[in-house]
Amino acid sequence: MRIREISCTGLRGGTPEGGWSRELRPEDCVHTLVAVHTHEGLMGVGSAFTNDGLVRAALSVLRPLYEGESALEPERVSEKLHQHTFWMGRGGAITHAISGIDIALWDILGKATGQPVGRLLGGRYRDRVRPYASLLADEPPRLSEHLLALREQGFTAFKIGWGPFGRHSGALDEAIVRGARDAVGEGSLLMVDAGGSDAFWARDRRWAHRTARMLATFDVAWFEEPLRPDDLEGYAELRGRSPVPIAGGEVLTRRQSFAPWLRAGALDVVQPDSTKVGGLSESRRVGWMAEESGARLVPHGWNTAVGLAADLHLASALPDTDLVEYKTGSPYIDDLAAGGWRLDSDGMLAVPEGPGLGLELDREALARYGNERLLAPS
Ligand SMILES: [Mg+2]
Repeated sequence: MRIREISCTGLRGGTPEGGWSRELRPEDCVHTLVAVHTHEGLMGVGSAFTNDGLVRAALSVLRPLYEGESALEPERVSEKLHQHTFWMGRGGAITHAISGIDIALWDILGKATGQPVGRLLGGRYRDRVRPYASLLADEPPRLSEHLLALREQGFTAFKIGWGPFGRHSGALDEAIVRGARDAVGEGSLLMVDAGGSDAFWARDRRWAHRTARMLATFDVAWFEEPLRPDDLEGYAELRGRSPVPIAGGEVLTRRQSFAPWLRAGALDVVQPDSTKVGGLSESRRVGWMAEESGARLVPHGWNTAVGLAADLHLASALPDTDLVEYKTGSPYIDDLAAGGWRLDSDGMLAVPEGPGLGLELDREALARYGNERLLAPS
């Protein structure tokens, strides 16, 4: 089975706020769907966390490398694309685009063999995964209302972050976390994300240490991105002394970038984004590297329904990955999956059983936010 063509479509019109200091507008495109088409007619879909203009440019650079290649060897073909573009945007737009191609190739391999992707990634350690509801932090009364509504929907794990948290005062930070803990209850999992990869993040290591101690009093399950994303030494020092686990790595791409972080013991939880790090081939390897370094992988999932399906399969294939991030309030997650996502009575999501990613795109939503020709380009 050979690759005939790769198409893509940017998603715009429903882009949710990201909490960035220069906030996203609904019409901004930061997620692009990718489809790999074969001569035999099978097709796979992937997702790339970047703008469609960059994906289109990357595809034109990559085309001579993928045209006519096997559509049934995702890891080898993705590695070929990485290796031959070493001098061309490595870690950036090229890597983001390869992420989408890689996920689509796993989808094709699953469809061709009649197996769910998670089984092909090595085997299923679990059939269900606990999704944590991910939302932007807000002033306490509004945040509580939002959390209560999500709890009502069946979620049992929550992450608040960005927004005002870490941007004003220690008193407000504490009020936000206290309100959140009260809203979700003692038995729920609660995580806090400072969003240190925001532009010009201004809080220092002292703030991170102080805040980690405050979070421990509210039984917070992890403290995410408390420092600037390149401050490896600061993370290693913080993790050594923090009473709560430290999470990060959502902006890192390529498995090679995670190696020094894991060697330094800088993180308890590594959070590669499969739609950016290099796809499932790459995040699976990061997951096993983490496993052997005393850390664990919980995927960054602020992306699309395709990314969520990929994360469910990834989580099924890693022994310690029992959570996925569920970005709430995004039509790219909720509406793009035909039939939507359903939490069971325990607040869990089933790992799709069908072949490939086991995801069908909702054509109407695809036409609304992207271009239907993704699925039948010529
Ligand atoms: Mg984050």
